[in-house]
Amino acid sequence: MHEDLERLDRLDRLDRDHFRQDLKIKELRSEHEALRATLGEQEAVLGARQGAVDENATGQRGLQRKLSDYRNSRASAVRLLETGQGDAEAAQRQIDRCEALIDETETELLELLEQADALEALVSEASAAVAASRERLAQLDGSVPEEIAKLQASMASLTEQRRALIDTLPRELVSRYEHWRARGKWAVSRIVGKTCDACRMEVQPQHRSDLRRGRIAPCRGCHRYLIPDEG
Ligand SMILES: [Zn+2]
Repeated sequence: MHEDLERLDRLDRLDRDHFRQDLKIKELRSEHEALRATLGEQEAVLGARQGAVDENATGQRGLQRKLSDYRNSRASAVRLLETGQGDAEAAQRQIDRCEALIDETETELLELLEQADALEALVSEASAAVAASRERLAQLDGSVPEEIAKLQASMASLTEQRRALIDTLPRELVSRYEHWRARGKWAVSRIVGKTCDACRMEVQPQHRSDLRRGRIAPCRGCHRYLIPDEG
């Protein structure tokens, strides 16, 4: 293989590594951001559910107060009847009304108590989700900046190696190479199973043997620099 082609092969591998590491950094950042957003949503859900639990507790206290008022009112009517003072019919009506209200209020209270259990279950579920996300976020807060710094250092080293490699290549090869890269495309392709791995066109046996013997002969399909296979 032509030594310039070997260099182009190395240059391409450096650029692909650089690309992958850059992508990895973006993925790490986006995973980190997504988790922060998820945690924010989970905290909002938890807050809303806790609000519902508080509202339920307030409702229960209100009903308890009403119950106690009705029971007092019934007790005083019962006392009136027992002592035989005042209007017995009015006292009986008061007792009947109070008992109806007590029944009704006890039913409402029971409903709130049942809802409270379901609401508490929802709160613990949301609370567990928040705790899990906080734990994961704490891990990422620790690991992501470190991983990104490592990748950036590695990318800086790749950029350095690239610069050195470019200096050893003929200008026209570099210019063609960079033209591909400027359009966001890889400039080099490899022969895999007798075909170009970029455009899938079959590479003729003569072409492959020319490449192995040191010719620089681009792919006839996509015109990328073609790296020969083993034969
Ligand atoms: Zn091709």
